[in-house]
Amino acid sequence: MHCPGCGVEEVIEIHQKLPDGTEVDFFSCHKCDEKWWDRDGKSIDLRDVLELVRKPRS
Ligand SMILES: [Zn+2]
Repeated sequence: MHCPGCGVEEVIEIHQKLPDGTEVDFFSCHKCDEKWWDRDGKSIDLRDVLELVRKPRS
């Protein structure tokens, strides 16, 4: 995984499971402090993550 900000290869990856069961990966770059989220291999922004967290359980 490359940082979209500075292109560094070593980024921090944290796998998280949201309350609704959606699994996402959180990435953070130690070099340029870029942060981003990934769901099923597609990057999503924080707003989408918050939307998923807020979504009531079905
Ligand atoms: Zn970076």
